[in-house]
Amino acid sequence: MSQLRAAAARGLRRSRGSAGKSRKGAAARRGGPVPAPAEPSAQHLFSDAAEIEALRRNLLAWYDKCKRDLPWRTLAASELDVDRRAYAVWVSEIMLQQTQVATVIDYYNRWMQKWPTLQALAEASLEEVNELWAGLGYYSRGKRLQEAAKKVVSQLAGRMPRTAEDLQKLLPGVGRYTAGAIASISYGQATGVVDGNVIRVLCRLRCIGADSSSPAVVDRLWDMANALVDRSRPGDFNQALMELGATVCVPKAPLCEECPVKQHCRARRRVEKELSFASQKLLGTCPPVPDVEDCGVGGCPLCPPAIEPWDSSLGVTNFPRKAVKKQPRVERTATCVLERRGRCGAPEYLIVQRPSSGLLAGLWEFPSLPLALDLQEEKQREVLADHLQAWTGRSVTAGDLRYVGEVIHIFSHIHQTYVIYSLPVDGDVTLDSALSTSRWVTEEQFHASAVSTAMKKVLKACEKQRGEQNGFGKGSKRKRGAKPGGAGSRPTGTQLSLHAFLQTPTRQ
Ligand code: SF4
Ligand code: ZN
Repeated sequence: MSQLRAAAARGLRRSRGSAGKSRKGAAARRGGPVPAPAEPSAQHLFSDAAEIEALRRNLLAWYDKCKRDLPWRTLAASELDVDRRAYAVWVSEIMLQQTQVATVIDYYNRWMQKWPTLQALAEASLEEVNELWAGLGYYSRGKRLQEAAKKVVSQLAGRMPRTAEDLQKLLPGVGRYTAGAIASISYGQATGVVDGNVIRVLCRLRCIGADSSSPAVVDRLWDMANALVDRSRPGDFNQALMELGATVCVPKAPLCEECPVKQHCRARRRVEKELSFASQKLLGTCPPVPDVEDCGVGGCPLCPPAIEPWDSSLGVTNFPRKAVKKQPRVERTATCVLERRGRCGAPEYLIVQRPSSGLLAGLWEFPSLPLALDLQEEKQREVLADHLQAWTGRSVTAGDLRYVGEVIHIFSHIHQTYVIYSLPVDGDVTLDSALSTSRWVTEEQFHASAVSTAMKKVLKACEKQRGEQNGFGKGSKRKRGAKPGGAGSRPTGTQLSLHAFLQTPTRQ
């Protein structure tokens, strides 16, 4: 018990220390008196050791009974070799960043089957990594994971760093959360973790309504997670807290009645009191009295800002406060599916490799070109034709391009619209190798290549259009006489002859 109090106090002191230092410095620079730092009230803290013990017990009992069966959990529990175990947890944690569990499972199983050890991953090529990662999104994760594996093998003698601090310090791409997860789950280090699920649960448990993405609040949440983590089962405790956020204390409609820690939840208590006050007021039986447990600290660093009062229609989902989301950047890209008949008449597509850095680094795509946002369709077509001409060194006119349609893909920070064209050819075409690496692939090879989900959508749109033109498929609703590809399209099924496509360029 005294250990718990000491841990909670240590956490508090650390935050006080750093916040006090910066305030003191700023005040000294202004030459004014040092303002007393605002401290949160007990409403926002875990200061009762007995309550912490009870919360741990309840949460772990629930986890033992209700946890989902997941492949990385099985591996972490059964793998005796500590480096293999840490590697297995590491891969899962990287894949689970920004991606749903249901999507990750299949990728994880294939990855661990192909590269069961750090050494195996270190020997893989980036192309292989990108191929396996294709469709999982945030591609730099796979690349960084492999770079870090190479570092462990070449510089750390194949031995994973053994503490959260060293994991974060020594491995590229391993941040505070991932380091804490690996260390607690694989090594049993009593260190907390804070991810989106944990933030939600802690903010609700302790009515934290200040911006949960602000560094000061994040610091407090880490202190809280470190104070709460169970000393004898830290890995299970951390996973239980995340599991609770993923399955019970979910963002929109939390299942409070089923919650194993509901008796410790101050957001829930607040909802109950609000309801009770409201009914008393309605009945006129008793005037509302101030809630002694409400924070009431002026300038509290963990309360919601005064301009965002409690919204009774939201209940516990008043917490955490949603950070204002930055609007994604709007972009448009013209992309051209060059298609030829391969052996046995099956279609083949030309794909090019993206640069080795930046968005979707090293992935393959159809020849593409960023567009100005206000460009008219006719102009888009011309710009794309010009570029295809420059890439191939052969003549391509705007009229050769068949308009297919548009698909939208949302990247984390970009709202991307792909304007799709197709260009049938009947011979071998490659793009200038000085500009980009290119190759022809069958449909099967395309799907096995390191291509993004956005490009799969592009190909699907082309195939759909082809199906409609051939009178197949669900969407075959084109009216008699309607033009299949819009302005400038060629008649259905007509391919440019190789001669026509590769005729002498009109300009260089
Ligand atoms: Fe979340 Fe409800 Fe449990 Fe509180 S009682 S932690 S709001 S699920
Ligand atoms: Zn407060």
